[in-house]
Amino acid sequence: MTSRLSRAWRNGIWRLALASAVALAIGWWLHAIAACLLAVAAIWLSLGAYRLRGFARWLESGRRRPDARGSGLRAELEHLISSRRRASFDEKRHLVGLLRAFRDAAAALPDAVIALDGDHRIQWFNAAARHLLGLKYPEDVGGHVTNLLRAPRIVDWLRQGGIDPLNDQPSPGDESLRLNLRLIRYAGDQCLLIARDVSQLMRLEQVRRDFVANVSHELRTPLTVVHGYLDLIEPEQMQEYEPILRELRNQSRRMTQIVEDLLTLSRLEAQHEIPAERVAMRPLLEALRREAVALSQGQHAVSIEIRSPQDLRGSPKDLHSAFSNLVSNAVRYTPQGGRITLRWETDALGGRLSVIDTGHGIPAQHLPRLTERFYRVSTSRSRETGGTGLGLSIVKHVLQLHQARLEITSELGVGSVFSCVFGPERLLEPQAVVALS
Ligand code: ADP
Repeated sequence: MTSRLSRAWRNGIWRLALASAVALAIGWWLHAIAACLLAVAAIWLSLGAYRLRGFARWLESGRRRPDARGSGLRAELEHLISSRRRASFDEKRHLVGLLRAFRDAAAALPDAVIALDGDHRIQWFNAAARHLLGLKYPEDVGGHVTNLLRAPRIVDWLRQGGIDPLNDQPSPGDESLRLNLRLIRYAGDQCLLIARDVSQLMRLEQVRRDFVANVSHELRTPLTVVHGYLDLIEPEQMQEYEPILRELRNQSRRMTQIVEDLLTLSRLEAQHEIPAERVAMRPLLEALRREAVALSQGQHAVSIEIRSPQDLRGSPKDLHSAFSNLVSNAVRYTPQGGRITLRWETDALGGRLSVIDTGHGIPAQHLPRLTERFYRVSTSRSRETGGTGLGLSIVKHVLQLHQARLEITSELGVGSVFSCVFGPERLLEPQAVVALS
């Protein structure tokens, strides 16, 4: 097309040159060269202005077919523009088709999908959003999502940026439905709010939890009886059965501990709220140190470093149980002569309780799975030291209830650091001590 355009342009120049030559010849013959050239220029400009007007009218009309016939510059320009218009129209139609197909697919999703703008105003939502989130079409389009989904948990979650998914949220439209909400960012500040119905999954999860809790509960009584009778028998009085009796005692103690840990986990899983009590860190660390010393029986050097006077807000009993699991692991997985340090420190980002040991260390590939139930790096070492494989699961659950997280760093043969990291909202200023005279 462009070569046709330049050919038309060249032809135009030739025609102008020819007309000027003819005007020159006539002018020379009539002795009026300037007048003839002026006349040709005037005719040429008028013709150009007339064609330009026609071209402008055609552009304005928006008609797709070119007006001009023939092969002049204007005809070529109209052809060029109309073919570009056609291509852009086809492209637009293709894009609109794609957009419709995408919307139809999103509308047919069983999950609720809401498109939000940067201010969290609803731009669009699918049919499932009406059912799962109780939204109404078209009234709710353009509304602020927190005015329409008013559950305080959803509002808080959205305010905090919705970084992690929000689990087990009752549906605002139907309380019997449980939802999992996710916020996905795209194209700068736009977001997709996706809600999935996980009621069935939650029911199965509840059945699993109840089953584990019931089995653990049922095992507790017979185990207490077995354990009690075994304690009554002194191995020294039955020399030939002594090793068997000792092993029986050890195993029944381990089973009792597993049952207790499973019951603790069931209780933590069922718990959604925790007490907001002051957890005094200095006495807690001192108690943990005493426990470590008792467990270590003089085999390790245990020290505490309290670098901040601040305390924590939460459940003293659960936090003690979590920290004491970490301390017990440090003692059990650190060879004789090793060092164990309990450190408490805070800054503007929050608080950190670290249990640092100079033990065996953990290979990096095991770190992400350590908090899974019954996951052990070395099963024999865990059993030898009386481990249940549930300690770190308990730690993870307790920390989750406190909106805190467990960070683990470890180097083989050098040692490990298990840190419980709390947000600044969990920190409490030290209590003022009133001196009585
Ligand atoms: P266990 O009762 O077996 O100790 P835990 O859940 O407390 O179960 O820990 C899981 C696994 O993580 C342990 O079996 C052990 O292999 C590893 N582990 C935990 N703490 C330490 C530590 N301080 N040093 C080395 N390994 C550890």
